[in-house]
Amino acid sequence: PLQLAERSNLIEPSATLAMGAEAKRLKAQGLEILDFALGEPDFDTPQNIQDAAFRAIKEGKTHYTPPAGIPELRQAVARHYTGRESLPTDASQVVISNGAKHSIHNALMAVCGHGDEVIIPAPYWVSYSDLVKLTGASPIVVPTTEESGFKLTPDQFLQAVTPRTRLLMLNSPSNPTGVVYSRGELEALADAVLETEVGVLSDEIYEQLTYGDAESTCFAALRPGLSDRTITISGVSKTYAMTGWRIGWSVAPAGVAKFMADLQSQETSNPCSVSQWAALEAIVGPQDSVGVMKAQFAKRREYVMERISRLPDVTCAPPGGAFYAFMNVSRHFNRSLRGITVSDSTSFCMAALNTARVALVMGSAFGAEGYARMSFATSMETIERGFDALEEFLAS
Ligand code: PLP
Repeated sequence: PLQLAERSNLIEPSATLAMGAEAKRLKAQGLEILDFALGEPDFDTPQNIQDAAFRAIKEGKTHYTPPAGIPELRQAVARHYTGRESLPTDASQVVISNGAKHSIHNALMAVCGHGDEVIIPAPYWVSYSDLVKLTGASPIVVPTTEESGFKLTPDQFLQAVTPRTRLLMLNSPSNPTGVVYSRGELEALADAVLETEVGVLSDEIYEQLTYGDAESTCFAALRPGLSDRTITISGVSKTYAMTGWRIGWSVAPAGVAKFMADLQSQETSNPCSVSQWAALEAIVGPQDSVGVMKAQFAKRREYVMERISRLPDVTCAPPGGAFYAFMNVSRHFNRSLRGITVSDSTSFCMAALNTARVALVMGSAFGAEGYARMSFATSMETIERGFDALEEFLAS
């Protein structure tokens, strides 16, 4: 038989996708599932962006592009950082990839390898630790607590640094917690980072989805010299409801960007040409649809927080950004819910799925046992019915 490489032990299928798959399996049996597992906007891609894609196809923009992406898009991304974030950025620092996930993979491949360590504050987005492991490096998971607002402190960071530490991974606004670090908190982290030789991968994919007073901050722009050691990740998937188009980007020091482009030229040649033209329209075209979608998310967030406050023995810090509520469900452990004894976040979520038909993702997938993540990137009607079902489930 064909033997798998040792590398095959390093990764597990994405847990969020796994929960989604289980929900789909039940749906295929004709059961209705109230699905809060998937992390993607439920809106269609805005019309102007769709039109740009059709135009690109009609105009024959259907060939290979330069590996790092079409110059127009790289320049538009560079202008975004130079203007909006006051971070002077040259198009040569920008690499367009097949989604932000691919950008993260390329970034890690560029700067990490065997024997290196990467600091990941938990809760963290599911893919981080596996993507780090794929490079041969070790994820060093630093737990944060609900009491500390799920934020890494400069002291925690400095204590985790060793001579082997290559990178700190930051994600604000955060998936799964929705936490948004304040500018002051990130400045304090930036100062700690600058005391060391450690680089930073700052995943800012939810940068435009913030609520209330919360504001996202471009980490690389916070201190002089920080951009020389920071790789910023973002993309169009979440802001423009473009998850399926697979366009993300990185902004990195020019030498790192050059390697990432070379790597990509061998791996995938280039991201989809039509999607790149669509992404260009997303960034430079009218932004009204972003406001419309954001207003919907904000409304749902309010409603979700109100309903969670009425769930028995469940707490949740209000998310400042993204579209997730990270609920502490641990008070239900070692209880029987609908006749199933729930002992951890996995058994809790499985019981909720199989008895209440509500799909959540277990906190353990994000390195945080005791929690369940609910995505509110789904219709208000589904959210209402989901909470009705959860209420009954938890009272059973
Ligand atoms: N980073 C975070 C924190 C995410 O939540 C996601 C998607 O769920 C991504 C990156 C990946 O985005 P993309 O779909 O553009 O690959």
